[in-house]
Amino acid sequence: MPRFNISWMYMIIALMLLALYFTNENSSVSKTTSYDEFQQYVRSGYVNKIIGYDDNTVEAYIKPYFVKDVFKEDSNRVGKNPMISTEAPSRESLGEFLQKERDEARFNGSVSYEKKKDYFSVILWNVLPIVFLIGLWLFFMRRMSGGGNGAGGVFNVGKSKAQLFEKGGSIKVTFKDVAGLAEAKQEIEEIVEFLKEPQKYTNLGGKIPKGALLVGPPGTGKTLLAKAVAGEANVPFFSLSGSDFVEMFVGVGASRVRDLFKQAKEKAPCIVFIDEIDAVGRARGKNPSMGGNDERENTLNQLLTEMDGFGSNSGVIILAATNRVDVLDKALLRAGRFDRQIHVDLPDLNERKEVFGVHLRPIKIDESVDVDLLSRQTPGFSGADIANVCNEAALIAARHGKKFVDKQDFLDAVDRIIGGLEKKSKITTEEERRTIALHEAGHASLSWLLEHANPLIKVTIVPRGRALGAAWYLPEERQITTKEQMLDEMCATLGGRAAENLFIGRISTGAMNDLERVTKQAYGMIAYLGMSDKLPNLCYYNNDEYSFNRPYSERTAELIDEEVKLMINEQYERAKQILSMHKEGHNKLAALLIEKEVIFAEDVEQIFGKRVWTSRSEEIMAAELRKKPEIGTKITEEKPKKSAIELNSESEAEVKKPLN
Ligand code: ADP
Ligand code: ZN
Repeated sequence: MPRFNISWMYMIIALMLLALYFTNENSSVSKTTSYDEFQQYVRSGYVNKIIGYDDNTVEAYIKPYFVKDVFKEDSNRVGKNPMISTEAPSRESLGEFLQKERDEARFNGSVSYEKKKDYFSVILWNVLPIVFLIGLWLFFMRRMSGGGNGAGGVFNVGKSKAQLFEKGGSIKVTFKDVAGLAEAKQEIEEIVEFLKEPQKYTNLGGKIPKGALLVGPPGTGKTLLAKAVAGEANVPFFSLSGSDFVEMFVGVGASRVRDLFKQAKEKAPCIVFIDEIDAVGRARGKNPSMGGNDERENTLNQLLTEMDGFGSNSGVIILAATNRVDVLDKALLRAGRFDRQIHVDLPDLNERKEVFGVHLRPIKIDESVDVDLLSRQTPGFSGADIANVCNEAALIAARHGKKFVDKQDFLDAVDRIIGGLEKKSKITTEEERRTIALHEAGHASLSWLLEHANPLIKVTIVPRGRALGAAWYLPEERQITTKEQMLDEMCATLGGRAAENLFIGRISTGAMNDLERVTKQAYGMIAYLGMSDKLPNLCYYNNDEYSFNRPYSERTAELIDEEVKLMINEQYERAKQILSMHKEGHNKLAALLIEKEVIFAEDVEQIFGKRVWTSRSEEIMAAELRKKPEIGTKITEEKPKKSAIELNSESEAEVKKPLN
């Protein structure tokens, strides 16, 4: 006996509707008779309308007055159009017979000949729209519940949507596939130990941690690490994303959390991995007037309760990943929940080499590929970016029909990932090209001439992605940045506009990206880093999302604005000054750019001579760092920039927007 289920009700209702629909149509009585009987009725003048079909069936409608004689029933019981049907020997004989009766004035009804109705298509046309509507409705219900896993989407909203990877299943990720991340790996290897041999720890009275939080920018291998834990410990692995809990229906999130933990406990020992936990784990609203997201808070509360609820030795370990640990609710980070935070940072030079090692394994490369060079060319790339570079390089090589992937393919892939696709077809006028060249040459010259600016790799005026021209720099990978370095960078960024102003005499919209960056940086330096003279050593950084109050007074706000203006103006003037001092060099560079479209550091070196600063500044920095190791404190909160190969690009989309 199949279990009763709400969907049965729907089926029954649908069937009843269908039945009603059809019975309604043919609600009048009909009767099959012999041809003789039919002729009899016609002769008696009972019939008022006859339809002959092409397959020789005949339908005859009976006059209401005679219904009782034919059907032996009351006329109000037989419906509107009572009818008899019969089969004529042939159409001709039917025609002759009717003609004769008409002539003898016994039959005066109407006669028509029709094609036989195809009942199959009638049913089809009647049923199809209904089936279609029901299908559409089911589809939307399923969509609303977010795809639903398996059957009965709507009826499963409260179920957790975690994907389960069983042991011995498809996960074959091991720690070997995770390159770099030595410290994170070590921490997380311990978790594998916990899962494999819990007694070793519990015997000594220790408690097994319930969860660990993997913190780091996207694409650095957090998911990969979690998978590796599952692969190595050989336990089931539940994977889901924080946003999977969130649903438009109230109460669904909490019930999904409950369901997830129930499932996990059944499979213990196991690992539950929640990606992007900030989707549910954001700090609960402090500002009641905002209304808050009650549903999300309920979900978070349930998560907290569940994490408290299961014993620490039950063998379920929760790993979660986020790149915004600062927005997480403090209650989540409390000991006893996610007691461990494991930082997964962007890979440094050596780690990038290792990551390349992992991802180059499946790729057929020739001997020109230099992993060393590639790692140096990709500062700020995450593991995922590097995986992407390798893949992209293989695609580029394939496009050119090569047997092996070579060095140039990799360099092209890197460029492409930083700057987007080259658009050689984009139309730029001669005048525009000159403007872009002068602008880019401005950046290039300044970054060559300024002590702390990032050294240039190459400049191009070939449109790429949304940019009209671009310059690549190779920044030092440093953890702290001095004020001088920031100012020099600012000056070089303003170099584009300064060059336009100096050598063309008009400024253009092309510098919007530069200005935006410079403005943001200046505000950061003054309001957060305490780097201005009038507001020294003050940090007004406020990471409270819900507070709209500035943590400073109106007067300070004005002061900040003023200081920002002052700082940017100073650097702009400085850029103009340096550029006019090196006017010939700059103009030569611009001419070279127009001619060659792409120029490299070597070309710049030929014009301006060797860059005097490189070695010295690096030396000084190194010495500085050796002198005073800052133990335990990070000086700037400034994360290394995402794409550390800085791209100074002029976006075309912005060209139309007015600058303010
Ligand atoms: P996230 O930190 O956003 O969870 P993932 O773990 O999903 O990042 O990483 C995405 C992809 O990037 C991985 O599938 C892997 O191919 C690659 N990757 C990232 N970090 C590393 C690493 N340290 N070693 C090897 N591959 C990595
Ligand atoms: Zn620019």
